[in-house]
Parts: sequence; structure tokens; C-alpha cells
Amino acid sequence: NTSLSSNFIHNIIDKDIEEGVYNGRVHTRFPPEPNGYLHIGHAKAICIDFGTAEKYNGLCNLRFDDTNPTKEDVEYVESIKEDVRWLGFDWGDRLYYASDYFDKFYEYAVKLIKKGKAYVCDLSPEEIRQYRGTLTQPGKESPYRNRSVEENLDLFERMKNGEFEEGSRVLRAKIDMASPNLNMRDPVLYRIQYATHHRTGDKWCIYPMYDYAHPLEDAIEGITHSLCTLEFEDHRPLYDWVLRECEIENPPKQIEFARLNLTGTVMSKRKLKQLVEEGYVDGWDDPRMPTISGLRRRGYTPEAIKDFIERVGVSKSNSVVDMSMLEHCIREDLKLKVPRVMGVLRPLKVVITNYPEGQVEWLEAEVNQENSEMGTKKIPFSRIVYIEQDDFMENPPKKYKRLSPGVEVRLKNAYFIKCEEVIKDEKTGEIIELHCTYDPKTKSGTGFNERKPKGTIHWVSAEHAVKAEVRLYDRLLLDVDEDDEKSDWKDKLNPNSLEILTDCYLEPFVAKGKPGDKYQFLRHGYFSIDPINTTENKLVFNRIVALRDSWKK
Ligand code: ATP
Ligand code: MG
Ligand code: MG
Repeated sequence: NTSLSSNFIHNIIDKDIEEGVYNGRVHTRFPPEPNGYLHIGHAKAICIDFGTAEKYNGLCNLRFDDTNPTKEDVEYVESIKEDVRWLGFDWGDRLYYASDYFDKFYEYAVKLIKKGKAYVCDLSPEEIRQYRGTLTQPGKESPYRNRSVEENLDLFERMKNGEFEEGSRVLRAKIDMASPNLNMRDPVLYRIQYATHHRTGDKWCIYPMYDYAHPLEDAIEGITHSLCTLEFEDHRPLYDWVLRECEIENPPKQIEFARLNLTGTVMSKRKLKQLVEEGYVDGWDDPRMPTISGLRRRGYTPEAIKDFIERVGVSKSNSVVDMSMLEHCIREDLKLKVPRVMGVLRPLKVVITNYPEGQVEWLEAEVNQENSEMGTKKIPFSRIVYIEQDDFMENPPKKYKRLSPGVEVRLKNAYFIKCEEVIKDEKTGEIIELHCTYDPKTKSGTGFNERKPKGTIHWVSAEHAVKAEVRLYDRLLLDVDEDDEKSDWKDKLNPNSLEILTDCYLEPFVAKGKPGDKYQFLRHGYFSIDPINTTENKLVFNRIVALRDSWKK
């Protein structure tokens, strides 16, 4: 279903297939670290990893890259599985955990030591950093670099056995302290960490570093093309070094693509976690979050997200994509799919004084005016209706196309009404209701054309309306340059990212709605029934997106 358009990755794979490099096999993996919930950036990686495998009739593994015991959790593992599945991808029986390979990583490390390619180093982390040098300055060799193989084997085993303190020793690759690539200056392969791992418990007190573990994970699983983001480009020589020195045949190939960045939000698990833990949002699935679970709760569909990723494309240059593009994709997806209803978010009571008390008419309307296949529905009309407060002005400017004293507008699908009287609260002067008259000759669908109304507004019958809570969202952050590390990104949190309207009235059509059901509310945008806050007695809607772009750039 999700074949991404051809891109530079596919060109590389085509060439491999042509040259028979992997005997025509294409095997990718999506390797999240279970230290947070997935975000829309991960959706890009998922579409590329699974989509590429699909395109070549290959395989894609879901692999939890759980080599870092202190930050990981089973809650994250479960959420990641749910999100990948929800996006529509299937890893079949290819679910793996890097932690299952801890024994193999250890064996490979012993092999490297025996080949004289790795050594135990007693420098402190701070000293290691100093010895590494800079881009303009070569590094300095560790005094422990030339330990004998026997001594290294002994010390490494004792590291594993828990004889040394955390931070006192590491295993390092013996590569080149003068390499122009800092990653090649004897990088750390293993560190000591007395931490309980979510799967291996206390079995290990040494844990492999990403740059050492990742190529081996790929090799163990028979991955052919290891697709990752651009920040790993400089790590590729190390990726290749590990595979070469471990003597992996037909080694996997790392290919990097640009990360997805979006305006108006942050997109790193560390920052998203901060928002959750410091209470700026209501959990990882807060509808304002760029997480998959947040987008799902907000009302985004997998189709819209995949369409968005497809439009963003796969390239090798980093860029920031405007959020309005994602919003465009959900509008496009829902436009013809969901029912359109009238909903009054900020109600103003209107009494139609010449409409008989107790009378109800059921007016016919299309469920979706742009998709007649969705059929028709009945809308109740009666003497008391709600209209939007914004659709009335006592002293309107000339161009105002809605209701005002003495002016006639059409109630959508119903009649013309004319405002005869404005009723105000005696103390506050606030407008509390309008008295209007209707003209029975003007019923919609009768072809009445003797007069033109000033405009058409939406409404709901008070007696029949479903009361609901509606939550409107705005972007989480105001004009944030995520890479601007000088200023604190949290200073730019939008204080008005959530507005809760508790007194909304909707067409009875929505009464049978279930969590996740989506509608267009005429003139207001697209809405989805919130699965968490909705109860048997209260419907809560999230606005997914307004009808037109409400964001000015
Ligand atoms: P973050 O920086 O947000 O914490 P991460 O890279 O640490 O993300 P991982 O769990 O390691 O998160 O990511 C799994 C895969 O998703 C990796 O291959 C990574 O390159 C990719 N990925 C992460 N963020 C993005 C993004 N913004 N755009 C595209 N791919 C991404
Ligand atoms: Mg990572
Ligand atoms: Mg990370």
C-alpha cells in the first residue's frame, strides 16, 4: 500500500540488485529505542523502512534497540508496536530485541580483543574526551592502548563480572587517534553500568554502545540496507569498520536520509518527554503532541500521515516542513469521507416568535454535499435554535454578511430569519437572546428567489441538540527554531494551545458517534470524538484542523 515514489535509496538498491550484491534480497529494519513514544518523524522512518521492503517484496524487521538500560521501559515497547500497526505496517513474526544479542555482542568483542583491535582503557570519561582532540587537532593515544591481548581479555571478563566500578573502565576500539573523523578515534565499545535492564534484568553490568551494537544487530538479522537519519553519516566509517573487523560476510549497508522537522512543534523524544513530565501537556497522547498517539487521538488518520510523508519525500538535505502541509493532508483525506454536520460552539439563543410552539419539522439535507453517495439525513427545526455568537452583531460594519437587527439571513437548509429584537441582561448589558421571525415561503429547496438573504449561517434546534465539549488546539510552540540551543525552547511554549468550550450544541446526527468518529462541522473544521475524555454522558470533540489555514506565517 505504501510504496514511496522512487528515491535515491531505491537507486542504490536497484544497483545492488543488478550487481547481485545480496542475491536480490532486500531486508530493512525499523529500530526504535524504547525510550519514548513515536513521533511523526519516526513515521517517516517507518514509511521508508517498511515501504522500501514492500516495494522490493522484501522484509522489514521491527527491532527494539534496547541497549541503553536506564532510559527504557516496557510501556514504550507496547506503544511503539501499537503505533506501527496503526500506521498500517506489519512486521509479521520479525519482532526483535537488540538485548537478545548481548551474548553475541560480547563474543564479537572478545574476537576484536584477540585480533588486537580492542583494548580496555582506564581513562576517566573526562580524560577520554580530552585525549580525543578536536576537528583541527589530532587526538592523543591512551596510555592503556598497548595492553597485551591477555591482559585485555582478563580485564574485559572482569568488567563483565562486575569487579569494577561504573565509569572506571571501558572497552575501546583500536583504530586511529589521528583520524580526521572523530568517531574513528578509538571509540568506546562498552561501558560499565549497574542498571537493571527491562528485559535482561541484572544479568549484565556492561552495555554496548550504539555504534558498536547497531551494525552487529543488522548483521545478525541479515539486514541488507540499514536506513537511518543523516546524523549517522559520520558514523558510517565506524559502522563499516565494526562489520569488517568482526568479519561479517556480505555486510549490510548503511544509507542515510534527512530527518523530518516540522514547524510549530518540537520533535525529539527528550523534549517531548520533558513536556509530559513537567505537565505542559496531558500525556504523550495529548492531541497537541506530534506523537503518533497524539495525532491519532486528535483525529489524524494513517492515510493522511502517509500521504504527508510521501509529499515530503526522501532526500539527503535537512529541512523544516510547514505544519500546514500536514493539515492539508488530513483535510484532503476527510473531505469526502466524513459526514458534515452543523455545530454551534459558542451559542446564542434565538427564539423564532412566529413559529408555532411545539412544532418540529425534519428537514432533509445531504450528509456530505460533495459526496452524494453518503446519502441524506434529517435535521430537526423548531421554535428555539442556537446560532453562533459571532454570527450576530448589533452594530455591524458594512461588509458584515451575517445577522444583525432588521437584517435577514438564511438558516442553512431551513428558512430566512429576520432579527426583530435584541434581549440583553439588565445588569451587564450582555446579549442573551434574539427574537426573530421566519418567513415560511423561504424554505430551502423550494426555489424561493424573491429576495436575497444577507448570508447563510449554521444553527441547531435547541430542543434536539446534543450538548458537547469541544477542544480547539493551536500549535504547541510559537516560532521555534529547534536547533537554536541558546534560548530555552520552553520559553516559546504557546500559552493558548488549548481552548476548551464546554457549552457546544451539535446536530443530533452525532448522537450515535463513537470515540474516533470524525465529522466536518460546517464552517468550523474537522473534529474527532476524543477516546479518553468522552464518557457515556458527555461527548468530547477534538478539533483536528480548521477548514482553512488559520495559521499566518
Ligand atoms: P529522537 O531524536 O527524537 O529522540 P531517535 O533518533 O533517538 O529520535 P530512535 O528511536 O533511535 O529515535 O529512532 C528510530 C528510527 O527513527 C531511527 O532510524 C531514526 O533515525 C528515525 N528517526 C528518528 N527521528 C526521526 C525524524 N525526525 N525523521 C526521520 N526519521 C527519524
Ligand atoms: Mg536513536
Ligand atoms: Mg534519541
